[in-house]
Amino acid sequence: MGIEAALANNDMFLCTTLQKAVNWGRRCSVWPMPFATACCGIELMATASSRYDLARFGAEVMRFSPRQADLMLVAGRVSVKMLPVLQRIYQQMAEPKWVISMGACASTGGVFDTYAVVQGIDQFIPVDVYVPGCPPRPETLMEGIMAIQRIIDEDGLPPSSGKRQPLQIAIQPTHDVKTQPVPLTVGRS
Ligand code: SF4
Repeated sequence: MGIEAALANNDMFLCTTLQKAVNWGRRCSVWPMPFATACCGIELMATASSRYDLARFGAEVMRFSPRQADLMLVAGRVSVKMLPVLQRIYQQMAEPKWVISMGACASTGGVFDTYAVVQGIDQFIPVDVYVPGCPPRPETLMEGIMAIQRIIDEDGLPPSSGKRQPLQIAIQPTHDVKTQPVPLTVGRS
């Protein structure tokens, strides 16, 4: 029975707790703040496209204002010069808020083992979910967002006491790497 059919029947009622209702609303309307600095950002954009349709999870409303976002999505390498900007935006987001580190660069610096690139954003802001890959596929990012939703369901927000700790969950890759389906030839065969 859909919600419209249930509402048409005036005799029906639901019993729940206020906390469950609030968390249900939160999990179904996670609004990401995209901090996309490199190629992972393209996969992030693809996740919102019609092929993957992030709207099915209620998380397609990208907000470019921290006051309207509750999920910081860091996609790509973060240079030392950009780090204060990242921290400032994170601090400006209201609680409760969550952080996804998307891709090898955001989580570890990736192949950019240089003095100019941050070797893991979790040294500077708390990360809840790490999405692996270079870049991660859109399905893997969705796994990360669903992990956040499960956390919201179970978390019992706001926490009964103290500050919430970063959850530091690592998503498993969702696909097996297969061999190239078509043999590649270079130049004349
Ligand atoms: S993890 Fe790979 S795809 Fe993502 S920003 Fe780094 S180099 Fe680009």
